[in-house]
Amino acid sequence: MITKAKFREILNSRGNITCECELHTKKGIAIGSSPTGASSGSFEAVFAPKPVPQLVKDANNLISQLLPGSTTFQEADDIIAKADGTTNFSKVGGAVSTSASFAALKAQAMTEEKQRFELLGSPTLPIPLGNVFGGGAHAAPEAMDFQELLVVPTGAKTFESACKTNALVHAKIKSRLKDKKVVFCKSDEGGWTVSASSAEALSLVYDCANQVFDETGIKVRVGVDIAASELFDSKTSTYTVDGKQMNKEEMISFVCETIDRFELAYVEDPLEENDFEGFADLTKQTASKTLLCGDDLFVTNVSRLEKGIEIGACNSLIIKPNQIGNISKAIDAVRLAQKNKLVPVISHRSGETTDDTIAHLAAGLNAPFIKTGVVGGERISKLNELIRIEEKTKAKLTVVI
Ligand code: PGA
Ligand code: ZN
Repeated sequence: MITKAKFREILNSRGNITCECELHTKKGIAIGSSPTGASSGSFEAVFAPKPVPQLVKDANNLISQLLPGSTTFQEADDIIAKADGTTNFSKVGGAVSTSASFAALKAQAMTEEKQRFELLGSPTLPIPLGNVFGGGAHAAPEAMDFQELLVVPTGAKTFESACKTNALVHAKIKSRLKDKKVVFCKSDEGGWTVSASSAEALSLVYDCANQVFDETGIKVRVGVDIAASELFDSKTSTYTVDGKQMNKEEMISFVCETIDRFELAYVEDPLEENDFEGFADLTKQTASKTLLCGDDLFVTNVSRLEKGIEIGACNSLIIKPNQIGNISKAIDAVRLAQKNKLVPVISHRSGETTDDTIAHLAAGLNAPFIKTGVVGGERISKLNELIRIEEKTKAKLTVVI
């Protein structure tokens, strides 16, 4: 049971302020913190309706008085949602509700002397989708337009070997960039960044993934997060990629060609966040060969997901608890997706903390994928927690592709 609650300002991986929640129980102190997006969807919970310092001050005046007495994370989530009274946490702030939700899951586990994943279900392990190359809103303007190039070690037999395989591809890309003598650095999520087009970068990643397959025998496929809302101009209804302006039909053809050329296993947000019909069209054409995943399209929101299911948009979706404001609502989205055979991908944000809650969500909710980078302490904290869960439970990877 929660006996005391306190909120504070901490830093995220970009060095910006976010919110941390500390919950006291008779068994110990549970801490949770909220990540922060950079290419956030327009329909997300409001991260901070006022400056974070004021948000934290208000949470310490109101929410911290309401939480003592709660015994489960669902109870804590409900209390905060009621105190907020809006549909998108635009009063209390998603940063406050998410950090409290993560802390409440930990507090409940502590009290019941269980692991967090045990409060959610019988565990399986996800395949890690690893960001090896960054662009778009996560990197300098000279970088590629696609936001993320990802690797998917579909041939790995264990989570640990999947992580190590992703790290091998990440290292291989570094050595190839060194050979080229280009200036390179890392994007927000730890992927490499150089001044290159999306097609050039994809070619390099595809090559490195195949080289790692040749060396290890572990098949590694490639994925992308196009984050197309960031490339869309609503005035002209066009997308611009690598300097080329495309209307919706041209963009759909371009995405289909890219899937075939690089044998993509995963494509996230290939169109802008309002285009349910376009997503349905693309899903019809590509669902047999790739995971077509909605992030900004669904924002972990059950109503938007219901609309997508009705129209046939996507066969996969991103689950980010802070997009919808708490764990309870994120679970509703996972369950609805699973019932309708959409593949849930539990995901980090580009601005992260070392909080490892999403590792437990992925295991306990049986998500086949977790997207949480390859390197960097704030990404590694989730991967290493899953390595521990694998060792302790002997749980198996959920393989869907
Ligand atoms: P964000 O990006 O956390 O900056 O929104 C991640 C993503 O789009 O998947
Ligand atoms: Zn995304």
